[in-house]
Formats: sequence, C-alpha cells, structure tokens
Amino acid sequence: MRYLVLLLVVAMACQQPKDDDISAEDLGLGKFGVPEEEDAASYDFSLEDQILTEWDRRFLDAGLVNIQEVIPEVLVDLKYSSTDNFFGKDVYGDLENAYLQPEVAEMLKTAYSLLQQKDPDLTFLIYDGVRPLAVQQVLWDNLQKPDSLKPLYVADPKVGGLHNFGVAVDLTLAEKSSGEPLDMGTKYDYFGYAAYPDREDQMIREGKITQKHVENRKLLREVMLGAGFQGIGSEWWHFNAFSRQDAGKKFEMIP
Ligand SMILES: [Zn+2]
Repeated sequence: MRYLVLLLVVAMACQQPKDDDISAEDLGLGKFGVPEEEDAASYDFSLEDQILTEWDRRFLDAGLVNIQEVIPEVLVDLKYSSTDNFFGKDVYGDLENAYLQPEVAEMLKTAYSLLQQKDPDLTFLIYDGVRPLAVQQVLWDNLQKPDSLKPLYVADPKVGGLHNFGVAVDLTLAEKSSGEPLDMGTKYDYFGYAAYPDREDQMIREGKITQKHVENRKLLREVMLGAGFQGIGSEWWHFNAFSRQDAGKKFEMIP
C-alpha cells in the first residue's frame, strides 16, 4: 500500500513539474506518504494540525498505527483518556487517538467493510486499542475484585496481555449520524455477568439484558469474527487478533 502511495506521489509530481516542493502532505496523503525509513516521530505533522502527545509519539515509535488513519470513518472515545471509566481517572491526558499493530488495524478495516455490508448506517466506536504496561498496572491496581478474579477483566501487568502488544481492541457499534453507541445492555467495563457473552441466555432469562441487546452484540461479533478476531467470554466489547503465544512471537509489549 505504501509503495502504491509513493508511486502515486511520483506520478502526480511528474504531472506538475513546476512544483518542485510538492510533498505527500501537500497532496493530502498525510503521514503514510512518508517512506518507511523515515522516523515517523520526527516528521512534521504541522500541516495536518495534529497535536501529537507523548503517547502518540511513543506508539508511532513502536511501529503502531492510528486506527483512524487506516479507517477514517471509525469513531474513537478513549475511555482511559477521560474520567468516564471504572476507576474515575484519566491516565492518558490529551491522547485522543487509538493505536494498533498495522496488521491488526487492517483486520479491523476488513471488519468495518463487513459491517458496511450488513448496515451502512453503523460504524465502530473504539474505546481502547494498545495499552502500555504502565497503564495496565493502574487498571489492575484499581479493579475492585479479588486478585484471583482480576485476570477475567484485566491482564496481570506482570504477565502482560494482548492490549499491551497492540493486538486487542475494545469497541462497540455506533450510529454514524449521531455517533451514539448502540445499546449492548451494559456499559463498557461493566464487570459482571450481564456483560458476559457466555451468559447471554441466562441474562435474558433473568431479565438483566434483552434480546435486542444480544442482537446488537451478535452483529458486532459477526463482523469481528468474520475478519479473524476472537471474542472472550467475559466482555462483549473485547476482541483479540492473535493468541497470547503468537503475539509474543511477533510483537513486543509497550512499556
Ligand atoms: Zn479489552
């Protein structure tokens, strides 16, 4: 893809021989017009009016990609970059972007295409992508569950989990027109059976969630699994692109 972009840059530059200062950004191609060898963190993003936080730079340095650079139509609301999360603290400050490993972002793009085939009025709303181990520690320390149950919801930072590799994503479905998330029956990071995909039949029987909630979740699962992701039994919003073993072989964790 990058080479195609470069070819396009060359082709367009050739058509405009008088403009010898032409650059990928002048052409509106953005940061991914940058040749691979260039250090993305040192590149001048000012033309895009982008404010890169220390976290953005760290993630770009690690080779991760901003999901919205790959799929511009998705919405991002990083819950840990706000106080609207289970521990009530903003651990990312000004970070607004969600990052993943490039091939995981491509898988998500496939899932997005599948979603468009099912319902073009919907998009993804991303709650979290890559998560550094330092942030994982904050989540672990603040989760009000016995240590034996914590791994159901948050990977032990001593071991690391798939978010730390940038190969897991937390997301829901949202209306494109309003940006409003669909009702999945619980909020993000609801740590109880009502959020468990494994317990949906029981939760419907007990009146904790409705058939409609499950239909919404099933649509999310269908497009994510269709693109090669795997869900987990305890969180309707969480999807893994790789096993822990494969992630460990392919990628490094973000400290
Ligand atoms: Zn997750």
